Amino acid sequence: MLRVAVIGSGPSGVYTAQSLIEQQAVPDIEVYVLDRLPCPYGLVRYGVAPDHEKIKSLQNNVEAGAPGLGVEELREIFDAVVFCVGAATDRHLGIPGEELPGSHPATEFVAWYSAHPDAAAVRFTLAARSAVVIGVGNVAVDVVRMLARGAAELAATDMPQGPLGALADSRVEDVWMVGRRGPSQAKFTTKELRELGSLPDTEVCVRPEELALDPAYRDPGELPAVARRNVAVLRGWAEQTAAGPADAGPAARARRRIHLRFFLRPAEVLGDASGVRAVRFERTAPDGRGGVTGTGEFEDIQGQLVLRSVGYRGTPQPGLPFDEATGTVPHLAGRVLRDGAPLPGVYVAGWIKRGPTGVIGTNRPCAKETASSLLADAPMLAERHTADDPVAALARAGQRPVPWPGWLAIEAAEAAWGHGLGRGTVKLPDWAGLLAAAQANG
Ligand code: NAP
Repeated sequence: MLRVAVIGSGPSGVYTAQSLIEQQAVPDIEVYVLDRLPCPYGLVRYGVAPDHEKIKSLQNNVEAGAPGLGVEELREIFDAVVFCVGAATDRHLGIPGEELPGSHPATEFVAWYSAHPDAAAVRFTLAARSAVVIGVGNVAVDVVRMLARGAAELAATDMPQGPLGALADSRVEDVWMVGRRGPSQAKFTTKELRELGSLPDTEVCVRPEELALDPAYRDPGELPAVARRNVAVLRGWAEQTAAGPADAGPAARARRRIHLRFFLRPAEVLGDASGVRAVRFERTAPDGRGGVTGTGEFEDIQGQLVLRSVGYRGTPQPGLPFDEATGTVPHLAGRVLRDGAPLPGVYVAGWIKRGPTGVIGTNRPCAKETASSLLADAPMLAERHTADDPVAALARAGQRPVPWPGWLAIEAAEAAWGHGLGRGTVKLPDWAGLLAAAQANG
């Protein structure tokens, strides 16, 4: 019998567990999916924006527990351990003013509106009139969209009352999303980009002359399909902007404006201890090799809220090797490598394996590769574990696993709470509330 622990119940953990079972390569296999939180699904619950309900419906049965044990301890209990722990922190810009009040990593804003229990103390009041989002990936698009959405649309989501109230009272009128390279090099995907154009009472503004600085915008022939589609959407908006309502008078203007800007590299966040007031960008120009060079010209974009959306980063895992340059665990087809040699019984999948790229579905082939490596190693791994009952062994090791019925109780409590508020399910936003709900019925 092969007993496997999958650490982390986000998309990569769930796909790994599924692949281990579905491949049917080992007749007797037990897979335990363990999570640090009392709730499963990782970024599906705490990263996918609340207004993307269809993507969230991927949620399915997994068992949630609470590891936090070292590799060696886990290997006493399980024959193999797969780390699917994602990329838990954000990248830094390394520019002056980055840490001023009012300048936040976008991941903090996401954790706040997603009700991540580790962000229970985080508050955004959204008194800003103008918000600057640095970066042009899908997380940037998510936070821009959440800043532009109205309360009526968000009330239908599972967002807790705090963020819902703050977004309802938001005074934000202008949201700037700023890329350091050209429109053909933006990282967002087309469906997500296009959605910005369908937000009620919101105008998308692009500058045709700025887009045209990108040679691939003028001649998109050689571009990859996604970039070509993105460019086509931006071109459509540029044409609207050119014919736009500028002379139609203020009454014809939308309540909110999303400005997409390119070829602007962040140089400094301006402000003081009372808050940010602008971001200073250096204008860039294409260098002909896919990068950009500075031009020495600067532009300040006013904003009282700055969200830095420049990517996630993996964090070192106790007992595992770590590559600081990439923020990932070195591996070969999912087998963790220490000094170039496989660490027996230890595997990785998802963002901690390949870095924070790709959409949720990208995790499926990534997880399958890792599961296949593990299953190929099965003859060397099976029956190594000494504990009879892994959940009891976890408890003996000082863990307090919340078992599956505990999670179902949390779901029930969230449904009841939302019902009481006259809404659908509403997430419990803090550890105490989640654990109390799990214990009440779990
Ligand atoms: P991302 O796709 O890597 O985008 C990061 C952005 O930050 C890029 O525009 C990048 O520009 C920019 N950037 C990086 N360093 C910078 C710097 N020093 N100064 C200025 N800009 C900088 O990361 P993400 O948006 O965090 O998304 C992570 C992954 O999750 C992606 O694979 C994304 O597709 C996925 N995701 C998907 C969805 C969805 O499917 N709806 C939603 C959210 C996230 P350069 O290209 O110039 O480096």
